[in-house]
Amino acid sequence: MITASHVIKDYGNTRAVDDISFEVKEGENLVLLGTSGCGKTTTLKMINRLIAMSGGSITVNGKDITQQSEETLRRSIGYVLQHNSLFPHYTVEENIAVVPALLKWDKARIKARTYDLLEKVHLSANDYLSVYPHELSGGQQQRVNIARALAADPPILLMDEPFGALDTITRAAIGKEFSEIDEFMRKTIVLVTHDVKEAFLLGDTICILNEGRIVQQGKPADLLFHPANDFVKEFLSASYLQLALNTVKVKDIWNEFTEQNILDNHSAVSEITENSSLWDLMEKGIKEPGMDIIIVKNKEGIYRQISKEDVFRSVAKFNYTS
Ligand code: ADP
Repeated sequence: MITASHVIKDYGNTRAVDDISFEVKEGENLVLLGTSGCGKTTTLKMINRLIAMSGGSITVNGKDITQQSEETLRRSIGYVLQHNSLFPHYTVEENIAVVPALLKWDKARIKARTYDLLEKVHLSANDYLSVYPHELSGGQQQRVNIARALAADPPILLMDEPFGALDTITRAAIGKEFSEIDEFMRKTIVLVTHDVKEAFLLGDTICILNEGRIVQQGKPADLLFHPANDFVKEFLSASYLQLALNTVKVKDIWNEFTEQNILDNHSAVSEITENSSLWDLMEKGIKEPGMDIIIVKNKEGIYRQISKEDVFRSVAKFNYTS
């Protein structure tokens, strides 16, 4: 759906983006992760031609982006910015309707879409349709912002620190909700963030950037367990345990358990499946203080008991040399 090939951006004598290449398949999320000034936003804005490349090429849906009009290109691409970019004198309903109205959708279709989107971003249409942006909290504004970017159902979304203006707790909660909305799951997304946890939560593939170059590109588990160099290792080290618990799935450690872990028992925790992360296992599996055995059922119907110690022992095995 999107390919970037040896893309370069120079500002005078400064090379802001230096020979970047990546590919995003349909329905996948690519995260550009790195500290401020490493070239993330410049890379993102070259995809929808808000910034012109100095070298290399980008294709969207198989077509070179410089061979089509900016208007045609941008029609297939939604764009979400960190800072609230809602129109202050438009209601929530009018803000969401901007692009569909430009595309001359009829009123009934716009209304139905607006209702549907507000429900998807967990705002009640009855309560919020007629409200102005200044009457909303930061988190609510960002939900409307996301609904607006989705309004005309573009197949591609570019998101620049979409949760960046929110406090840490709201940010993590909205990030998780967002990752679970079916409409987002179908979209091809390029997302820029400096937040390692957000990158791991939302990225199918993560590119770690430094000084305009991709230092490593891969699936979250590749970066975590096979870092290309000390830079990547350092970058992820502060959040290592949390990232590992979130990245390793129950099915990854399933075969580590011995026969004695197998139970004939029907009290498995229903929210936990083989595809749950070890983080979810710890969070949702342990219902009562002091309880440290979690019973999990796999798709073949086999029950196993997993203790907290099992979880930590397993995570320790997925170390840098595994
Ligand atoms: P990030 O999004 O990772 O914070 P940017 O893509 O915004 O980084 O910037 C990458 C580099 O390009 C930085 O060194 C920044 O100072 C420089 N830069 C960005 N925009 C311009 C500009 N319009 N003119 C000159 N330098 C710029």
